[in-house]
Amino acid sequence: MRFGSDVYSLETYDVVVVGSGPSGIAAAIQASRKGLSVALIERGGAFGGNMTSGGVCHLLGGRRWDVSSQQMVREVGGLFDEITDSLISMKKAIDPDTIDVYNNNPFGWYPRMAAGIACDIEALKLYLDEMIQASSIKPYLFSTLIGVDVEDGRVMRAYVSDQGGIRAFEAHSFVDATGDAQLSFLAGCPCHKGRDDDHLMTPATLIAHIDNVDMDEYVRYQNAHKSPKLIEIIKDLREKGIWTFPYEIFISIELNDKDVCMLNTVRQVGVDGTDADSITAAMMDGRKETSDLLAIMKEYFPGFQNARLRWTADRIGIRESRRIDGRAYVTLSEAENGTTYEDTVVRSTYNFDLPDPLRPSFDPMLGSVENPDVKRKHIGINIPYGCLLPKEISNIVACGRCISVSREVLGPIRVTGPAMMSGQAAGLACAFAFDGNIDVAEVDGKKINSELRQVGCIL
Ligand SMILES: Cc1cc2nc3c(=O)[nH]c(=O)nc-3n(C[C@H](O)[C@H](O)[C@H](O)COP(=O)(O)OP(=O)(O)OC[C@H]3O[C@@H](n4cnc5c(N)ncnc54)[C@H](O)[C@@H]3O)c2cc1C
Repeated sequence: MRFGSDVYSLETYDVVVVGSGPSGIAAAIQASRKGLSVALIERGGAFGGNMTSGGVCHLLGGRRWDVSSQQMVREVGGLFDEITDSLISMKKAIDPDTIDVYNNNPFGWYPRMAAGIACDIEALKLYLDEMIQASSIKPYLFSTLIGVDVEDGRVMRAYVSDQGGIRAFEAHSFVDATGDAQLSFLAGCPCHKGRDDDHLMTPATLIAHIDNVDMDEYVRYQNAHKSPKLIEIIKDLREKGIWTFPYEIFISIELNDKDVCMLNTVRQVGVDGTDADSITAAMMDGRKETSDLLAIMKEYFPGFQNARLRWTADRIGIRESRRIDGRAYVTLSEAENGTTYEDTVVRSTYNFDLPDPLRPSFDPMLGSVENPDVKRKHIGINIPYGCLLPKEISNIVACGRCISVSREVLGPIRVTGPAMMSGQAAGLACAFAFDGNIDVAEVDGKKINSELRQVGCIL
């Protein structure tokens, strides 16, 4: 046992899920609904990962704006719909079907962004707490995975640090829902990070929430001036030397309450989400930049004269870090061509949107900010089960943004809807492994595909 006498307790479960973002929550709930005992380990103080502690309570990828029918289409189903429909019925989230996408959408522009479900962050936290309490999941907050014992290609024990010391966890299967592939990495699985040549990753963002916005004025201005993301104003401010940030866009999304917005504008270059010094600096830089940005917004941006900072997120928002080296891998061309698999376990129709690591307003998969319609299209990306399985360890299944795809494909699959679907797939994989007394690596992905349809996922 790696930490020996430092371990103050040994806990045993059928499944240990590490990380409680959209993918980890879905994995834990799905496994619990299949009758398994589940430990859900989260280093933060709330469940939900980037949706809550990261401040991104704008849930994309579950619905899509269909231009030809001029309607919102459901794309993910399953737990994504269950959670968002519940919040909508409690009036704690905005129903995309009720939005006038051309004249009054929470994004202020771009009809397709109205498909993101904006919700009340506190209501989401509470709802996830209640879901967990109503299940067989044992929650562990403020608990950080710090190491694993591996024997014969299997994780035998996971070690978790908390204020009491170190606890050890044993389980039949382990789910890596850490976003950073931290569990797989600690187990010695090979991982990829960033671009193949220089390993640089797409910029990070410290999300902020603001209130006292005059959303009507902001939307009116964008519509009247055909100025998405206020790029004309920013251009002018850049020429005058007022705007010195390394990006040319402004993204503010109205949340469930009128005139309360999530600011997703700051783009922090050179951040490595797996390096403690880097994310420490990024938090502090992000707070300073948010304050500087707010001063400019108040003076120059229509609708933001009286805006107030409510909160900056508890953690830096990392779009990209490690991806596992998986038993399968989806390339960009496979994704774009909509290659299908018998064992598809995740599907996404969300667009490619990962900005260039060094030029935060330039998306290598796009034409330009001015011409969003040239956005590289795809007909729906399918991910086979093997992309959730790290090489070398047979009882880890990964989900969320650390799965085995080419980094361009991260854009569409990392958003909340597909991340939740991958979590449901991971939860089902654990159930099949447990029932068959085999490891997740031996589970037939076709069975997961079929069961995902039965639990309402759209494949
Ligand atoms: C700035 C930004 C803006 C975004 N905007 C949107 C948007 O508008 N809409 C949308 O749908 N998506 C958006 N996304 C993408 C989306 O939020 C994430 O990709 C998604 O949350 C990934 O889910 P996940 O479950 O893989 O990881 P996460 O949500 O990151 O969850 C991982 C969890 O694992 C925990 N964890 C990590 N390591 C450990 C450890 N060692 N021990 C214990 N716990 C650990 C973390 O604390 C975290 O809670 C955005 C992302 C960023 C960064």
